[in-house]
Amino acid sequence: MKLEAKIPSGPLEDKWTHQRFSLKLVSPANKRKLDVIVVGTGLAGAAAAASLAELGYNVSCFFFHDSPRRAHSVAAQGGINAAKNYRNDGDSVHRLFHDTIKGGDYRSREANVYRLAELSVNIIDQCVAQGVPFAREYGGLLENRSFGGTQVSRTFYARGQTGQQLLLGAYGALNRQIHVGQVRSFPFHEMLELVTVDGKARGIVTRNLRTGEIRSFAAHAVVLATGGYANVYYLSTNAKGSNATAIWRAHKQGALFANPCFTQIHPTCIPVSGGYQSKLTLMSEGLRNDGRVWVPSGKQDRRAAHEIPEAERHYFLESKYPAFGNLVPRDLAARTVKDICDAGYGVGPSGMAVYLDFADAMARLGRGTIQERYGNIFQMYAETTGEDSYATPMRIYPAPHYSMGGLWVDYNLMTTIPGLYALGECNFSDHGANRLGASALMQGLADGYFILPATIGDYLATEGFAKVDARHPAFTQAEQQVKDRVAQLLGMNGRCTVDELHRALGKILWDDVGMVRSAAGLQRALSEIRALRAEFWRNVKVAGGEDSLNASLEKAGRVADFLELGELMVMDAFQRDESCGSHFRVEHQTAEHEAQRNDQHFAYVSAWEYGGAEGPPQLHKEALEFTYVSPSERNYK
Ligand SMILES: Cc1cc2nc3c(=O)[nH]c(=O)nc-3n(C[C@H](O)[C@H](O)[C@H](O)COP(=O)(O)OP(=O)(O)OC[C@H]3O[C@@H](n4cnc5c(N)ncnc54)[C@H](O)[C@@H]3O)c2cc1C
Repeated sequence: MKLEAKIPSGPLEDKWTHQRFSLKLVSPANKRKLDVIVVGTGLAGAAAAASLAELGYNVSCFFFHDSPRRAHSVAAQGGINAAKNYRNDGDSVHRLFHDTIKGGDYRSREANVYRLAELSVNIIDQCVAQGVPFAREYGGLLENRSFGGTQVSRTFYARGQTGQQLLLGAYGALNRQIHVGQVRSFPFHEMLELVTVDGKARGIVTRNLRTGEIRSFAAHAVVLATGGYANVYYLSTNAKGSNATAIWRAHKQGALFANPCFTQIHPTCIPVSGGYQSKLTLMSEGLRNDGRVWVPSGKQDRRAAHEIPEAERHYFLESKYPAFGNLVPRDLAARTVKDICDAGYGVGPSGMAVYLDFADAMARLGRGTIQERYGNIFQMYAETTGEDSYATPMRIYPAPHYSMGGLWVDYNLMTTIPGLYALGECNFSDHGANRLGASALMQGLADGYFILPATIGDYLATEGFAKVDARHPAFTQAEQQVKDRVAQLLGMNGRCTVDELHRALGKILWDDVGMVRSAAGLQRALSEIRALRAEFWRNVKVAGGEDSLNASLEKAGRVADFLELGELMVMDAFQRDESCGSHFRVEHQTAEHEAQRNDQHFAYVSAWEYGGAEGPPQLHKEALEFTYVSPSERNYK
């Protein structure tokens, strides 16, 4: 298989403009004859569904939640980046492009990232027009804060609820189209299979989570916007429902999976507090604008934070990375926190935490300002830990958070299956080996509002407008596969709960495919995951029946897919015998314990082809070319 990224030629600044002009258009009269399925109504999916409907396509959107507003995008706290340069602090499209390529440790496509930076300014205009209540300065201009890996302030925010407010904007646009009948909305529908006819995406099979009905839907194109897979680690900052099923089924139908091992461990989360915990809580990176990270200078110091005098505090990020301080990129901050705790300087009952302290900021700005900026996050912290972080520092530790890997897509966001698109966190497109904070919302909205609406017409205009029919045998066959799998899961009647098996998978991945990886650890993880997968299919217990709401059945299907994805993550991490961004192989580090890339051999996107039930997956490589930035060792000092 030859990977064609379809990156337009010409200067970087003109690529997207040229591409938009050279793509074919569909006339308004013909758009009415075309059906598009959108799976997922987070920021990427809701923006895409609303925009396609606004253009005149017939859209059906599917989501497993009860309302589009429950998509996990609602949880995003800190903000969204855009190169508006309202602060006049030296920002520009080119600087955002440069920061993102560098932040991703030179493992993303220049053309995609430049386009993302260009579109960032349109996104803010679009959202303001929708009424998103971004924070404003006294003079009326939109306010900005800083996020990791940058020296400018370009992050737009709405208190600590940016995702919720952006999603309300997209939801409003989507609802308008539902109301006028241009979008048909299918809540509680989980996509369990992709249907291809003659190698092209032609529809999906869903299970109605309330009634158990298995049903096919046909369309001229299918768009997946189903979010990230950090839940593969069991404990993560993601909602419990976030999963990889839709993209994994697409992968098994022929869509290549890119960079599966690039997973982001976020440095500032509430630490694990016990063996029965099922979820971790993020404390936004935005907090590091004002919060200072420190530990006691002496090992095993068990005094309370307020008993430790200033002279005995070690502000380790500020001293290690003086140029960026507490706002270094996430991969560096997370690894440094881990190192400090492993060395015995950690705080709290487990010793696996560091302090995030707002005392200086409150003395400088007053409690009111801190409350205005982060009030809801402080409240979340208090509800989870019982501690008041206005009075005592927060305790934080890294946790799985985001997947940079996902379905491989070309410049038009099409996967390797013609007619199948992937948007938002479920594709691999823009963040390389490490995503910068506040760039996921930017990417999801760029994909949904601006890129897909421009590119999908090219495919549809080329394909013609013949009706597609869900009575085609390919649909009957796919439905049968789904029914067989449901029956198999319900019929196992083993002794292990789905959660037990998922927790075991998470531990393997966290230990050996987490913040630090090694060849020996990865080999161990591979054999452990294979054994666990066999155990799952021998011994899982799924309670309940098939024709009513059954959370155990839903979870079982998702964990079965995680077990396969986990194996691919390990294989990907094993073949990438270098360190880059979030992927830190102990064998490859500089004298200062930083990731040591190997551009000569690994400047590529790894794109995996499914090898069938028995066969090994096949690795394809998309070479990354750097014309406008020259890859160098990242330096945030
Ligand atoms: C706690 C937290 C805070 C964050 N804060 C920020 C931030 O401040 N700034 C930033 O840029 N990023 C942030 N992120 C990351 C960002 O929120 C996500 O990457 C982004 O919102 C993902 O959007 P999405 O549209 O791709 O997917 P999601 O919002 O996850 O939506 C997925 C959709 O797919 C549907 N779905 C999934 N699988 C199926 C299936 N099989 N069948 C049917 N439907 C399905 C779901 O119902 C849902 O509608 C944060 C992430 C977390 C976890």
